[in-house]
Amino acid sequence: MKNLKQILLGKKMKQEFSIKDGIMTVDESSCDGCGLCIDTCPQSAISMITLSADDVKNLSFKGRLKVRIKGNQKAMINPDVCTSCGLCIKQCHAFAVHTVETQKQTFSSYGKEELVA
Ligand code: SF4
Ligand code: SF4
Repeated sequence: MKNLKQILLGKKMKQEFSIKDGIMTVDESSCDGCGLCIDTCPQSAISMITLSADDVKNLSFKGRLKVRIKGNQKAMINPDVCTSCGLCIKQCHAFAVHTVETQKQTFSSYGKEELVA
């Protein structure tokens, strides 16, 4: 049976291996607004945002609970500046930073005519 350290390490590795061609994004339900990733980012691509009451309503139960305990400040990554280096993933104790693959979506969004041209 896996111990907690193995489970956490496995989760970290899974996140790191998932850095491919996607953009980095923060899961607002997991982020607790600690701000540690901001200092880590070499590109200054991360800033803090404050969720509105409506934004909070749309979070998962876990996310709403986190807002009650830790507040409504969340990290946000600027995809225009981020180089997907992955440092913020290593820094985040809440496993809140993920990648969203975009290249496949972009490719499949081309029309057949555009690909042939
Ligand atoms: S993404 Fe992680 S490290 Fe950054 S503010 Fe949120 S919890 Fe903290
Ligand atoms: S992946 Fe690197 S560049 Fe992008 S937000 Fe995280 S630390 Fe900054």
